Amino acid sequence: MKQSGDSKKKSYQLVKGMKDILPSDARYFAHMNRLADQLAQIYGYGKIETPILENTELFFRGIGSATDIVEKEMFSFEDQSGDHLTLRPENTAGVVRAYIEHGMQTWPQPVKLYYSGSMFRHEKPQAGRFRQFNQIGFEVLGEADPIMDAQMILIAYKFCELNGFSCVMQVNSIGCADCRPSYEQELKDYFKRVKGRLSEISQARLAKNVLRILDSKEEQDLPLIAEAPQQIDFLCEDCKNHFIQVLEYLDELEIPYALNPNIVRGLDYYNRTAFEIWTTGEEAGRQSALGGGGRYDGLAEMLGGQPVPAVGFAIGVERFINQIKEADHKVPDTPKPEIFLAQLGPEARKKGLKLFEALLKEGIKVGENFAKTGLKAQLETADKLGVKFTLILGQKEIVDGTIMIRDMENGIQEVVDCAKVTAEIKKRLAKIAVIE
Ligand code: AMP
Repeated sequence: MKQSGDSKKKSYQLVKGMKDILPSDARYFAHMNRLADQLAQIYGYGKIETPILENTELFFRGIGSATDIVEKEMFSFEDQSGDHLTLRPENTAGVVRAYIEHGMQTWPQPVKLYYSGSMFRHEKPQAGRFRQFNQIGFEVLGEADPIMDAQMILIAYKFCELNGFSCVMQVNSIGCADCRPSYEQELKDYFKRVKGRLSEISQARLAKNVLRILDSKEEQDLPLIAEAPQQIDFLCEDCKNHFIQVLEYLDELEIPYALNPNIVRGLDYYNRTAFEIWTTGEEAGRQSALGGGGRYDGLAEMLGGQPVPAVGFAIGVERFINQIKEADHKVPDTPKPEIFLAQLGPEARKKGLKLFEALLKEGIKVGENFAKTGLKAQLETADKLGVKFTLILGQKEIVDGTIMIRDMENGIQEVVDCAKVTAEIKKRLAKIAVIE
């Protein structure tokens, strides 16, 4: 390891593309996780936590080698034992690995799981794009019925609705192993004819993974993509029926959606339904999709298990938080204290520590600033917290076995017996609750 000569003075900075989440933002992350927990409870999903590190092979086989993620975005390394490991770039492959490894096919089906955690992709950092970011995802394994696809789209949509901003679900069907090859051939023939006008990236994709051209954000590709043949015209009967049913469910639920033939999701494991969440009026579209998902009936088999029909989605938590802020949607704050405990003098500080715990045990939400010794600074904190009452414990009160209650609204102070203070506070808070 290289060491700098002036190691004493060195100050360290974040690794490129990474970020610290400070308290002012952490509350948004907590809010998103609470929302995920609530939705999971309503729709019957159990939480799964898989490790951040997986064998590199899992992603090669699961995501597919001709994808941006596997080709150039994975944080992969060889560990001390010579194992090839990767920081997970997404979590569906990990969830399916866990499903197979824990014999979940013997559980009552479908198995409904959700997760929340960090993903890692070595992408070019830019607005809304990090190298470590968070996703919340929902997955249903063991059910092929289109009603599950619709439920996935519904839950993804609810993340927008409950966060106070509107979105339009972009939906498509990318067919199955039976009908996709003929479509891919048609697409290849088409793009070969216009190859000279395609961007360099798309020309490379033509040989490796033609569907990915539809995903292109290059300006010069867009008019060519608009004219390209669409998968929907090549769906086999089963895929067509499946898609129609998904759309019927969405109509029934009145979820705003748009048919978008360019949603192909890029990863090898998807089949049939593919969708993304775009905010309303999104110009940049995919560039800043809030989330996406789809059906991946072939993934379990690709990872060495029995075939397991499955569908899921993941949302980008940071992108949601940006939208929440933009929509000025209020997220619940951590509960505020109702009273404050101020202390003056060493003995009162000691007794105050204990009294604080006693008040908590009584279920009273109490705040403190034990770091300060002066009353003025402590009352300032109490004011900032917006408490109704402040208890003041000084030397005199300690000697007398009393405590002072200060009404923060009118400044009136009253001395009460310290042994009766919890009952007194509860009574006063209850009275205010009735008035409010
Ligand atoms: P994907 O797994 O690529 O479908 O991504 C699902 C969602 O995760 C995207 O729609 C984004 O909201 C979010 N996401 C993907 N990559 C990044 C990234 N590098 N930085 C921040 N969010 C991301």
